[in-house]
Amino acid sequence: PQVSMIPVSALLKEVVLLTESEALMKGCQINLQVLQEDLFISGDTKQMKQVVLNMIRNAMEAISERADDSMGRIEVGARKEGTEVRIFISDNGKGMDICTLDRLFNPFFTTKENGTGLGLSVSDRIIKNHGGCISVSSRLNEGTRFVISLPLIH
Ligand code: ADP
Ligand code: MG
Repeated sequence: PQVSMIPVSALLKEVVLLTESEALMKGCQINLQVLQEDLFISGDTKQMKQVVLNMIRNAMEAISERADDSMGRIEVGARKEGTEVRIFISDNGKGMDICTLDRLFNPFFTTKENGTGLGLSVSDRIIKNHGGCISVSSRLNEGTRFVISLPLIH
């Protein structure tokens, strides 16, 4: 891994730009809300992008697997919370039941026909290696919110 100082807002912008057109084709809108431009974390840029990218892809998939066909919405953002930054990715997709919530970080756990079930277990490892953690809240048929907490550089 290559460690550098990563500007959180630029990182999120880049990943959102990368996924926006694919999302729109699938009938979902990605909204980026970075309130502060000057938040920095220390870590491997490629790994961090991979984590956010997998969460946005998961959100798009959860939206396309819903029953209703209203506009899908994905909110991506970051805010400062004491000495940490909280990066959040939330969606109004299909949500999760308790069984899924219990197992989603397990390697090879997937509910998808062509899923690998590795995205979140790898992401969890990456974030822990960077001194942070991932939390998740979800409601079946309503949506899901992932929050990545990481130490800020100051
Ligand atoms: P994969 O995407 O290959 O299935 P992941 O590790 O990325 O593997 O995700 C594991 C499982 O967690 C998914 O199969 C899905 O059931 C659940 N999941 C992850 N993100 C979401 C989300 N945003 N909404 C609903 N379910 C999700
Ligand atoms: Mg995935």
